[in-house]
Amino acid sequence: MPDPIKVAGRAAHHGTMPALPPDPHRLPPPGDWFASDAARHLLDKPKFCPACAASLDRGLISEWWNAGDRVFLTWCAECRWTGNVVLFAHAVIEEPEH
Ligand SMILES: [Zn+2]
Repeated sequence: MPDPIKVAGRAAHHGTMPALPPDPHRLPPPGDWFASDAARHLLDKPKFCPACAASLDRGLISEWWNAGDRVFLTWCAECRWTGNVVLFAHAVIEEPEH
């Protein structure tokens, strides 16, 4: 049987984890192939709405990946803002001549 960690290639890439905050949802058991991604999601997801600054505790945040970018589809229960919050390692920005 192939090693699921080697097949997935993700579980070990986050390295050592800091202490995790309380999570209302149960994280997968440590060592499961998705455990480090679930823990990183808990640590890195947006905490406050980008539009109204309300807590997103009652909102919805779903994460997906686009190459190396981490994209958090975010919905705010207070102002109903919906959008993507993107964490990236490198930004490519073009500035017009002036
Ligand atoms: Zn909001």
